[in-house]
Amino acid sequence: MAVLRIRTWGDPVLKTRAKEIDKVTTEIRTLAQDMMETMQAEGNAVGLAANQVGVAKRLFVVEIASKKGPSKRYTLINPEIIATTKECEIAEEGCLSFPGIWGPVERKVGVKIQGMDLEGKSVTLEGEGLLARAFQHELDHLDGMVFVERMSMVHRVMLNRQLKELVKHTKAVMAGRGTPKI
Ligand code: ZN
Repeated sequence: MAVLRIRTWGDPVLKTRAKEIDKVTTEIRTLAQDMMETMQAEGNAVGLAANQVGVAKRLFVVEIASKKGPSKRYTLINPEIIATTKECEIAEEGCLSFPGIWGPVERKVGVKIQGMDLEGKSVTLEGEGLLARAFQHELDHLDGMVFVERMSMVHRVMLNRQLKELVKHTKAVMAGRGTPKI
């Protein structure tokens, strides 16, 4: 198990559409475990997509804290949304690839999602509220889409300076200058 380096905004892998996984290999299982560990090392994180750790493959992990009992963990390969509620809601979102950046994003209230688990079996998951939001946020990552692109123009403009600074920082890290952590 290992904590992987999280890619930040400005890294082209975040704008890359991740590729389908044909077979669940040991390599994929290790990647999923490492992603779970990486997300947990960040404390408050809810989800992480493989391209956020530099691997353009269709896999994400989500962990939702529960008031009673242990938190719920999900690992999904080749996820697809197969149904959604009509209703949407707006809530604040953040992202491990955008440290310190938050803003309101509209999402469907509920989604039904299909994919493969780490045994290669087909699974269908249903989520509402935060879980549905996490599924939609992570699936967007796999399509090369990030949450700031779903914000209203007004909010994007408000975040413009922070986003530019983040891109500058990311480019410096990629060029071997500067430290990855912000
Ligand atoms: Zn994210």
